[in-house]
Amino acid sequence: MNIARNIEEIKATLPAGVELVAVSKFHPAEAVAEAYAGGQRAFGESRVQELTSKAASLPGDIRWHFIGHLQSNKVRQLLAVPNLALIESIDSERLLTKIDNEAAALGINVRVLMQVHVAAEETKFGMLPEEFLDYFRRREFEKLKATHLCGIMGMASNTDNQARVRTDFEHIAELRRQALKIAPDLRGFDTVSMGMSHDYPLAISCGATLVRVGTAIFGDRTY
Ligand SMILES: *Cc1c(COP(=O)(O)O)cnc(C)c1O
Repeated sequence: MNIARNIEEIKATLPAGVELVAVSKFHPAEAVAEAYAGGQRAFGESRVQELTSKAASLPGDIRWHFIGHLQSNKVRQLLAVPNLALIESIDSERLLTKIDNEAAALGINVRVLMQVHVAAEETKFGMLPEEFLDYFRRREFEKLKATHLCGIMGMASNTDNQARVRTDFEHIAELRRQALKIAPDLRGFDTVSMGMSHDYPLAISCGATLVRVGTAIFGDRTY
């Protein structure tokens, strides 16, 4: 695996305005360092413990994205990462409230995406579309003290059926627009995070502004 070259090749295909997050979960810090040497600065991790230990040993200007299911009892540890750029995986209102309270208590601001569940698999996390829209109808976001809602994150169904994958991506992008219709005063709700190694070009054609690519950069993960 030539990590730096993989990143360069992927970046060359990204339109202006689409950000690449290199998903380094389950890969060692050395692999992150290699990507960093090639100029990559945004990395995605799915476990708090792993992110914390990598952040401690790697350069301070890395922008860490948290992309996994976050348990309430790990929120404080995650917020302690100084260069945490974005929590992409807010999958319940309860978790959002918890993060907001903890961040306010620490006197920090936190940027987050709301994760929606549109895929066929029940195993995936995320708010259901109605739940997501209802949050804005109730204008709950007005209560946030220390959290900036920056947009939406989602995953497509795990299938070879490209039409279904496209429908899922279009659905995610549409949900962000609907939230803005319901709450036109929302500011900075701009990010659409969708697309992974096997489907990011399609995600971009459906409006992704941020893609999360692991395997195509670092190779297969060993769990
Ligand atoms: C692991 C993971 C990715 C990266 O998947 P690849 O197929 O390796 O590119 C992207 N998003 C989320 C939420 C993930 O958990």
